Amino acid sequence: MRASKSRVLHRSLRETPPKAIGGEGVWLIAEDGRRILDASGGAAVSCLGHQHPRVLEAMSRQASKLAYAHTAFFSSEPAEALADKLVGHEPGGLAYAYLVSGGSEAVEAGIKLARQYFIEIGQPQRRHFIARRQSYHGNTLGALAAGGNAWRREPYAPLLSSAFSHVTPAFAYHEKRDGESETDFVSRLAAELEEEFQRLGPENVAAFIAEPVVGATAGCVPAPEGYFRAVREICDSYGALVIFDEVMCGMGRTGTLHAWEQEGIAPDIQAIAKGLGGGYQPIGAMLASGRIVDAVRDGSGAFQHGHTYLAHPMACAAALEVQRVIDAEQLLDRVKKLGSQLERRLTERFGNHRHIGDIRGRGLFQAIELVADRPTRAPFDPALKLHQRVKAIAFEGGLGCYPAGGTVDGRSGDHVLLAPPYIATSDNIDMIVDRLGQAV
Ligand code: PMP
Repeated sequence: MRASKSRVLHRSLRETPPKAIGGEGVWLIAEDGRRILDASGGAAVSCLGHQHPRVLEAMSRQASKLAYAHTAFFSSEPAEALADKLVGHEPGGLAYAYLVSGGSEAVEAGIKLARQYFIEIGQPQRRHFIARRQSYHGNTLGALAAGGNAWRREPYAPLLSSAFSHVTPAFAYHEKRDGESETDFVSRLAAELEEEFQRLGPENVAAFIAEPVVGATAGCVPAPEGYFRAVREICDSYGALVIFDEVMCGMGRTGTLHAWEQEGIAPDIQAIAKGLGGGYQPIGAMLASGRIVDAVRDGSGAFQHGHTYLAHPMACAAALEVQRVIDAEQLLDRVKKLGSQLERRLTERFGNHRHIGDIRGRGLFQAIELVADRPTRAPFDPALKLHQRVKAIAFEGGLGCYPAGGTVDGRSGDHVLLAPPYIATSDNIDMIVDRLGQAV
């Protein structure tokens, strides 16, 4: 990092990161020629790594035909084909895809569609959403209101909607009490959700929104067995919808196309992004069940939501090819295999480390949690920003990993996330763990 002379408004206003000038498979190349092993795919984005020839070719083909046509006038071949691909084989009844430019837009589209659905079916009072603390749903104001991440929310709090409340997340490492069984933990969370419905008045709740595997706020946290089935049951009993945010954990990252497939239930609405386009183009999507879209179609007939770059043909062409490559190269099998290897190697390396409290995740979505004291799970002083330091040291050592932390819900934490490209090799996985080990 060097002092900023850049006119780009970077995340850090004090430092300009080095320029990335190239990419090759799992490697990113910095301006000084250094090769960085992209162990987090940026932020779980680059599922096919960099410069995949088939995706470049598809983008080039589309660019030579048509880069952009506004959706008020036209659909496009890649948009139609991508939507067919995304919802064509859904067992859970997701029947339509609303194609946007990223994760926050997809989440907000889902929230708005849920709200509009209830207006159309004569339940306009359903305007409340239940989310979870220690969650992240995006950084635009609506998506930020949904998330439970206190330090991100704080500066903007007066601008955020009060239509969201937050319950305890299914985060066993911190929330399960000593001696409590997993089943009792799930029952306690379900009872809390019930209480929240009662507090709000069940007839006022539109939806419950959650990440099936929590990403950036807590570091790859899957829910205990049965939790999402209990959530689905409660929502069904009160006529509320279930919205899953799979922006980070979706599109194959956990070993199944959707992370919820491993939970035995399906959502009514889902947000996807990141791995959808693999970073080749900015794209996200809101997937919705036929029941919801049909009600809106039969009602007002229009979804009151639109962006200039909806269903951008270049973005759709890139995403379509990314998904075709994942199918053709059977990469989900590879995610499962490499994911097991990554988990095993992390456990070998950090299982007895006195400052690694937890190793968790699914598939190629794994994290370690740094703690000051393992027996009590006490965190390090948040002022140390250890997750950022590990990231910086790892980067110096040629490894790109994703730091997560800060104070969430009054609790601080330091997590390092790994989300390597699905095309990684077994040797790449070993190298990731070795380099992370050195950094830690
Ligand atoms: N939801 C989740 C779970 C995410 O991880 C993110 C991005 N980290 C978002 C929503 C927002 O996506 P975007 O940054 O593309 O707006």
